[in-house]
Parts: sequence; C-alpha cells; structure tokens
Amino acid sequence: MEKQLERPEIVEIARVVEEAEGIKTIFIKKEVESRPGQFVMAWIPRLNEKPLAVSYIDSRKGETGITVAAIGEFSKKLCSMKPGEKIGIRGPYGTSYRLEGKSVVMVGGGCGSTSLTLLAEEAKRQGLKVRFILGARSKDTLMGAERLKKILGSENVIITTNDGSAGMKGFVTDALKQLLTKEKIDKIFSCGPEKMLKAVMETSRAAKVKGEISMERYMKCGGIGLCGHCCVDPTGIRLCMEGPVIDFETAAKLTEFGSYYRTKSSRKEKM
Ligand SMILES: Cc1cc2nc3c(=O)[nH]c(=O)nc-3n(C[C@H](O)[C@H](O)[C@H](O)COP(=O)(O)OP(=O)(O)OC[C@H]3O[C@@H](n4cnc5c(N)ncnc54)[C@H](O)[C@@H]3O)c2cc1C
Repeated sequence: MEKQLERPEIVEIARVVEEAEGIKTIFIKKEVESRPGQFVMAWIPRLNEKPLAVSYIDSRKGETGITVAAIGEFSKKLCSMKPGEKIGIRGPYGTSYRLEGKSVVMVGGGCGSTSLTLLAEEAKRQGLKVRFILGARSKDTLMGAERLKKILGSENVIITTNDGSAGMKGFVTDALKQLLTKEKIDKIFSCGPEKMLKAVMETSRAAKVKGEISMERYMKCGGIGLCGHCCVDPTGIRLCMEGPVIDFETAAKLTEFGSYYRTKSSRKEKM
C-alpha cells in the first residue's frame, strides 16, 4: 500500500519538459508512490488545487512527473512555473488500472497518453504483449511517441492522426478495429477525451473484449469523497474515490458518459 499524503506537502519543481504545443511535464523533487491511473492534487497557493494524473515516476532521481495541458488559469500558471519554484502535492488518490490476460492494448489521446504509458511500462515488466494506439489531431499535437517506442519498440506503437500528418489517417478506433479483427486481445485500457473513450468502449464491447477507462470530472475536495462534485449519474459513484479508473460495465451504465458533464458550479452542460 502506497503512502498517502493527506495534507499538501510543499515540493520543489526539479525540471519542466515541453511535450507538445501547450503541454508540459512538471517534474517535482519527490517520488509519489502510486499505481498507474492514480492522481495527485496539485496546489498553487492563493490560486487553486486540481487533480492531475501521475505520468512519470523516476525512482533513481526521486522525482514524479505530472503532464499538464495549458487550457485555463490554473494549468497555464502551472505550465509557466520554473525549476526551483514550489507547489503543494497531496495523494495519490483514486483507483488504478488492473492488468489481466496475456495481450493488452492501450489507447491514449492527448495528455491521457502519458499516464497510460506508466501502465504500458508495468505490463511490459510483467511480460505481457502490449500494443499502444496513440492518437492526436495532427503531428503538432502528438505527444509521448518517442517514450513509448523506447519502452515497447516501434512495431508496437500505432500512431493515428485525424489529418494523416503522422502515422495512419483516422481515429484511434479505426486502428483498434483493425487490431481486433486480426488478433485475440484480452483487455483494453483507455485515457483521453471522453468522446474518444466512449467510442473505444463501444468498439471493444462489440468485439466482446473487456477493459477500463479513466474518466475526468471537476473535483473540489479531490480524493476525500466529501463534496460530491465528481458524482456521476445515475450510479452516484464518486470519481475521486471509486474512479477515475472504472471498467466498461460501470461506464456503460452512466447516462452522462460522453453526453454531459457538470461545470465548476455543478450545472449540467451538454458535451
Ligand atoms: C482524475 C483527473 C486527472 C486529471 N489529470 C490531468 C492531467 O494529467 N493533465 C491535465 O492537463 N489535466 C488533467 N485533469 C484536468 C485538470 O484537473 C484540470 O481540469 C485542468 O488542468 C484544467 O484546469 P484549469 O483550472 O486550468 O482550467 P479550467 O478553468 O477548469 O478550464 C478552462 C476551460 O477548459 C475547459 N476544460 C476543462 N477541463 C477540460 C478538459 N479536460 N478537456 C477539455 N476542456 C476542458 C473548461 O470547460 C473551460 O472552458 C485531470 C482531471 C481529473 C479529474
């Protein structure tokens, strides 16, 4: 069982790496003992505290990485921070992916691909056959491909872009359908934009292959299960406690999955 920090610990930023346009990995000088799929709460004093998936763990250097897309006030500030500056970290929180079978496929898009990479590393360590389908809108927004190729070998990394500027032209689900018709796959894992997750789930279930997704909602208390902000309809599961990783069966029961989400003030909005 990993050691969980219930109060933010103030940690120093060791280095910042640009992953793609508007996406950076912030490495902190602390090894957060976590399992693939779990998240930490990152705190910038006087601004906000937000959940972010653990995307790198470097035990040798004693560092943890979180990969952030600069889209709003908090994430833009975090992406502008420099080595030597400090943030608060608590966690890890939430459920993690569960590897099963002999042959697994990971399907990632955007920032989500970096946290799945930790799972790919673990699966490889366990001797499983691992394929990674990595999707992006275009070559410029593609991220994490080189890291994945080093871990899994180029032949096991399938790249898709919507415009065909890198890899196969199309969506991750096009590549997934091709793989599913050719081989026996035991389990599929996916992280990325929700519409993509829903398409991956539907494609996999049609082929009768089980799997798990990581689902995001606004979180306030984050990992404590108190505020109810991340509850999803109609099951009422709290994504900060019973998620963010849930299996296809649970996701299929959620009426809001891929259709609507709740704003910061809890109002329902169509996706
Ligand atoms: C379990 C969990 C893990 C997460 N892991 C990561 C991670 O590894 N990296 C990361 O960058 N973020 C991650 N997030 C999202 C993160 O917590 C913040 O929501 C995100 O950084 C934006 O916060 P902000 O305050 O900068 O922007 P906000 O002010 O909250 O949002 C700015 C604008 O972007 C929109 N928006 C917010 N979130 C998203 C989204 N996910 N996709 C598209 N539009 C969005 C909002 O509707 C708004 O219009 C995770 C969330 C959860 C619940």
